[in-house]
Amino acid sequence: MNLVNGFSRREFLAHTSCFGAFYALARHIPLPALATELAGDSRVSQTSLVDKGFAAVRKVGNGLYATTSDPSKGLTTLCNGGFLVGRDAALLIEGFATPAGASFQMEALRTVSQVPVKAALDTHYHFDHSMGNSFYGSNNVPLWAHATAAKRIVDNYSPLQGADKETVLAPFEKRIKDAKSDTERAHAQSDLNALTGVFQIANSTVLGLPNHPLDPAKLPLSIDLGRLTAVLEPYPGHSGTDIVTRIPEQNVVYTGDLLFSGWYPVCFDEKATISGWRDTLKRFASFDKGTLFVPGHGQICGQEGIVSIREVFDDIAGQAEKMYKAGVPVEEAQHRYVVPDKFKNFPIYAWGFTIGPAITKLYSEWKAGKS
Ligand SMILES: [Zn+2]
Repeated sequence: MNLVNGFSRREFLAHTSCFGAFYALARHIPLPALATELAGDSRVSQTSLVDKGFAAVRKVGNGLYATTSDPSKGLTTLCNGGFLVGRDAALLIEGFATPAGASFQMEALRTVSQVPVKAALDTHYHFDHSMGNSFYGSNNVPLWAHATAAKRIVDNYSPLQGADKETVLAPFEKRIKDAKSDTERAHAQSDLNALTGVFQIANSTVLGLPNHPLDPAKLPLSIDLGRLTAVLEPYPGHSGTDIVTRIPEQNVVYTGDLLFSGWYPVCFDEKATISGWRDTLKRFASFDKGTLFVPGHGQICGQEGIVSIREVFDDIAGQAEKMYKAGVPVEEAQHRYVVPDKFKNFPIYAWGFTIGPAITKLYSEWKAGKS
């Protein structure tokens, strides 16, 4: 059962009032319709298998399904995912933001197949991809992830469980109070909204940890599901724990958050690397021109989605480089980026999770002479 559709919208808002700020953020991130480029793609079903508002599941290939989230309609899943169904076994992708989200996807799988589930994969450790993991634990589904993902879930989210909300959010409230301009204040407010969501979700979740670590040195790994072969590959960029699922025979790739489709990329992670991420996107661009990408957030896309996020990175780097060369201090530069018209509809999850850290990281990469 899902936690959202049983309530009226008003009851839903009351029910999630503890999410207030985070809900306000999510409301501004609707999922756009499937692009016209994909209307003629024979792999992609034009209708959904299931649609619960907060997420829908669509066929994107032979035995391949994509789950796409619409945060404006609910917080159950938050990220995208999907599942692969072979003759002998299935693979589920993502743990989502809540166990109800993981359960929703499992139910969708069971409407098309009864094959045993070989595993579920967290594409990386972030909360919106892993806080539903306990669903897999309670259903005896082996949970796979990058070898360091379990530790990073514990290191990042268990401290929030013993913590007091006011204490965690205080430094962010202070930044709003101390902001030197309306722009800085708006940025600080967006960060507070996002952190409120991370806190509320992590604080109220029984953590589930991946029990099948994937050593990146031993990847790529081919998984035979029976007449369907998937390949797991690690790439640098978003979190230091990112694993992509490729189905080479059908040119379909589940990227996790290495692709934000029509969004500003979330770059805050301490292990995020802008130069590494841009190299990864260059690799994606070298995949077959008919490749279909299931991104971590945003709508399913073809190579045009890779072109677009590379342009976003180019634009951030271009503006940052001018400031760097003009000697603008990084503290100031991270707030000065101007969103061009071209990207004005791209959601910015929170300034301090996206553009701010992208600029900070670019500055340090340039200082270190890396890019
Ligand atoms: Zn992420």
